[in-house]
Amino acid sequence: MDKCLDIKSLNSHLSVTGQIAVADVQALADLGFKSIVCNRPDGEGAYQVGLKEIELEALRLGLQARYLTVETGKVTDAEGRAFGSFMGALPQPALAYCRSGMRSTTLWAPANAAQLPLPQIIEIAAKAGHDMKGVVRRIVNGGKTPVEVSEATHEVVIVGAGAAGIAVAVSLLARSPDLDIAIVDPADTHYYQPGWTMVGAGVFDASFAARKMAALLPYGVHWIRAAVATFEPERNAIVLGGCRVVNYKQLIVCPGLKLDWNSIEGLSETLGRNGVTSNYRYDLAPYTWELVQQMRGGKAIFTQPPMPIKCAGAPPKAMYLSADHWRREGVLKNINIQFCNAGAVMFGVADDVPALMEYVKAYGITLDFGRNLASINGAAKTATFSQNKADGTKESVTQGFDMIHVVPPQKAPDFICVSPLADATGWVDVDPASLSHKRFENVFPLGDVGNTTNVKTAAAARKQAPVVAHNVLATRGLVKGQAKYDEYGSCPLTVERGKIVLAEFTYGGKLAPSFPKWLIDGTESSAVAWYSKERILPPLYWDAMLKGREWMAQPEMVDQ
Ligand SMILES: Cc1cc2nc3c(=O)[nH]c(=O)nc-3n(C[C@H](O)[C@H](O)[C@H](O)COP(=O)(O)OP(=O)(O)OC[C@H]3O[C@@H](n4cnc5c(N)ncnc54)[C@H](O)[C@@H]3O)c2cc1C
Repeated sequence: MDKCLDIKSLNSHLSVTGQIAVADVQALADLGFKSIVCNRPDGEGAYQVGLKEIELEALRLGLQARYLTVETGKVTDAEGRAFGSFMGALPQPALAYCRSGMRSTTLWAPANAAQLPLPQIIEIAAKAGHDMKGVVRRIVNGGKTPVEVSEATHEVVIVGAGAAGIAVAVSLLARSPDLDIAIVDPADTHYYQPGWTMVGAGVFDASFAARKMAALLPYGVHWIRAAVATFEPERNAIVLGGCRVVNYKQLIVCPGLKLDWNSIEGLSETLGRNGVTSNYRYDLAPYTWELVQQMRGGKAIFTQPPMPIKCAGAPPKAMYLSADHWRREGVLKNINIQFCNAGAVMFGVADDVPALMEYVKAYGITLDFGRNLASINGAAKTATFSQNKADGTKESVTQGFDMIHVVPPQKAPDFICVSPLADATGWVDVDPASLSHKRFENVFPLGDVGNTTNVKTAAAARKQAPVVAHNVLATRGLVKGQAKYDEYGSCPLTVERGKIVLAEFTYGGKLAPSFPKWLIDGTESSAVAWYSKERILPPLYWDAMLKGREWMAQPEMVDQ
């Protein structure tokens, strides 16, 4: 059983725990559990096993597995009652799980509010390690979270401790060391996602791309280890899982985006097996490398979903590095490589396309544009695509594969889409220059979650973080002038092991090189750029960007 699995009993029928692994199901059956309920949406975390994978193992062992998700900060009496009857219909004892067990306990609390005194609910949950005081306040308040009862108030609250969240925290502290900052993130691991492509190509070991969150968060910042469920920007409040309220003077919103694995039918059941892989999941990047090494001939498909996605170059990067390995092994001629791209172009920066096309030709890659992955049958090793036709209609195309690298569609996280911060498309509505929210002037979105038109990359977050730090402090009167973001983004396109086409661009795909052309010409493949990606960018990320050293990222100021 997973060493981290910590089962807490709420009563004789129901226990709760954090995320489980497929290998845990056997142990749960041995412990006598008859049902497993997942209260966490699939695809919520980067390293999350989907319910379909759990369900297959549960069925094999004679257990039932069910899915019931909920927004923790908004759990209503009705949802609690629905959870009660849902659980009542399942064989018992049952185990409910989510990211930490908090959400499952949050559902159990209102479900039992009619039978148990509220202090007893708080006590039982506390023994299981979960604070239900906020939930109980919500029950007492007729199902609405009373935002005037706050757990904590901070000058600046940052939602998400990913690339953008930690970078902005350290940039704030570099300018104002005594500032009261809280950072809210439930994850115990921080990932260097740009490294996942290199893991999938056998260049980096997976452990190189992950670090303990506790060791990375800057000294002096309060870490609230919880998930934000809802925003109440009119009251300067966020509501955490368990209906706990935190108030702020200024809010920075950077929870990244959602990888929508479930929008491709059959994908979750087969990911990590049957030759189906993705570098977009940390735990699967090593499987990509395993498949690439095993492949001696046959059909290899690489997919790219519709934009926007994070690191638009990452889908073909996996393909180029795989093809390069096959070329070095002398098996490239036996492998039919196909790039199925839902979009209409190879890459959004036109000046970089000729260099990329040379590699496409050299590797013998077939390009299919307007071809969007719709479903996968892992056992049959077939993938079905929706293909745009010239007359504007679509047709369904089914193809066989020996290996397929899938990049899932991507969208704003669910709790963002339904919040007052979102625009009509679900992304957070942000002024592209000042990076302040268009309607709430004390809210600053940054990183992947914003609706800026730049490519969503850590490179963009590196440039955005100092702009937000400056503008947050400017509105407090602590620094002068206003900083602006130029929509810089960058994508090191790994076209072969040892060479990169370093795409650097601003708004509209306009080139924005950081280096003189004699050192790195961003429109040609470059060994210096590879050296930088392999040796310089990782320390630049861990030891500069996440430590408040703004090398080549000083904010530009608006002319006064
Ligand atoms: C395979 C791959 C290759 C890539 N290659 C590159 C590259 O070469 N160059 C490049 O610049 N970029 C690359 N990227 C993109 C880059 O990693 C992202 O753009 C960057 O990490 C975005 O930073 P972020 O802080 O917005 O989001 P993230 O880094 O994803 O962090 C989001 C954080 O928010 C937290 N969170 C989520 N929900 C909640 C909640 N409800 N409450 C509180 N916290 C929450 C998460 O736990 C996480 O810690 C790549 C990405 C992938 C997947």
